[in-house]
Amino acid sequence: MNYQLDGKRVWVAGHRGMVGGATARRLASEGCEVITAGRDVVDLTRQSEVEAFLKDARLDAIVMAAAKVGGILANDTKPAEFLYENLMIEANIVAAAHENDVDRFLFLGSSCIYPKFAPQPIPEDALLTGPLEATNEWYAIAKIAGIKLAQAYRKQYGRDYISAMPTNLYGPGDNFDLQSSHVMPAIIRKAHQAKLNGDKTITVWGTGTPRREFLHAEDCADALVFLLKSYSGYEHVNVGSGEDVTILELTQLVCEVVGFEGEIVHDLSKPDGTPRKLMSADRLRGMGWAPRIGLREGIAQTYDWFLANQERWQ
Ligand code: GDP
Repeated sequence: MNYQLDGKRVWVAGHRGMVGGATARRLASEGCEVITAGRDVVDLTRQSEVEAFLKDARLDAIVMAAAKVGGILANDTKPAEFLYENLMIEANIVAAAHENDVDRFLFLGSSCIYPKFAPQPIPEDALLTGPLEATNEWYAIAKIAGIKLAQAYRKQYGRDYISAMPTNLYGPGDNFDLQSSHVMPAIIRKAHQAKLNGDKTITVWGTGTPRREFLHAEDCADALVFLLKSYSGYEHVNVGSGEDVTILELTQLVCEVVGFEGEIVHDLSKPDGTPRKLMSADRLRGMGWAPRIGLREGIAQTYDWFLANQERWQ
C-alpha cells in the first residue's frame, strides 16, 4: 500500500496531547493540511458535535489520538470516566468518519489491551486470549472496543480503517502531575525535586520490579505516519521499542540524567500493576520501521522540556 499524504486534509483528534501533538508536527512535514480542533470547538464525547464537525471538515484521513488517559492510580480510581469517555470518543468519531466518507482512519490503542499474563514479548494475536490487568481494565476494554470498531467498519463497509497499539510513551508535552501521570514523568519530577531539596531519598511506587517498555512520542508519531502511508489490514499493529527495563532500572537512569544521587525507596502501599508488558516489535520492524531515540537521550530531552515548562504543575 502506498497512501499519499501530500495535499491531504488530515485531522489529528487529540492534538493537545503528547502523542497527538507530536503526530500533528510530524504530519506537517509530509505536506498535508493538518486539521485540529480544541475542546472549545468540538466536545468529542458529544455525538451531535462530532457529527457537525465532521460534516464541515471535508477530511481525507483521521488520526485518532484523543483519549482520556492517565497512569496507574488515575486508571484505578476513575473507572467510569476511563470507560465511558473513551468509548464515546471513539464510537462518535468512527461512525461520523464513515458517514462522511473519510477514507483513512488510524485508531490509537495501548499495550494494556493485552492479557495480564500474555506471552512476552506480546504478539498482536495475544489479544483477547486471557483476563486483563485489573488496574487498567476499564481503559483496556474501551481500547479493545476501538480496535473492533475499526475492524467492523472494514468488514461491513469496506472502510480502510486501521489500528496501532503504542507502548508506554513519554516525551515533551507529557503530564507531570504526580497523581495522574505515568511513571516516567513522575520519576523525572520527583528526582528533580529531590535534587533541589537536597533530599536523601526518592520514593517510587510499588516494588520496582515490574518491567515496562518505553517509546519516545516523536518515534511513535513517526511510526504512525509510516503506518498511515503504508499499512492496510484488519489486524492492529504494535508500536514499541522492543526493549524493556524494570521500574528500578528506569528510576536509576532518570536519577543519573537528572543528577540526583540519593537512595531509592519503595512505597509498597501503591500498586505494581501488570508484571511485564513488552510488546513484540517484529511486525512493524518487518515492515521496515525502527525507533531512533534511545532511552537516555529521550529522558534527557524530556527533562529539558520539563525544566522549561515546570510552572504548569506548580
Ligand atoms: P502502567 O504501565 O499502566 O502500570 O502505568 P504507570 O506508568 O502509571 O506505572 C508503571 C509502573 O511504575 C507501575 O508499576 C507503578 O507502580 C510504577 N511507579 C513507580 N513510581 C511511580 C510513580 O510515581 N507514578 C506512577 N504513575 N507509577 C509509578
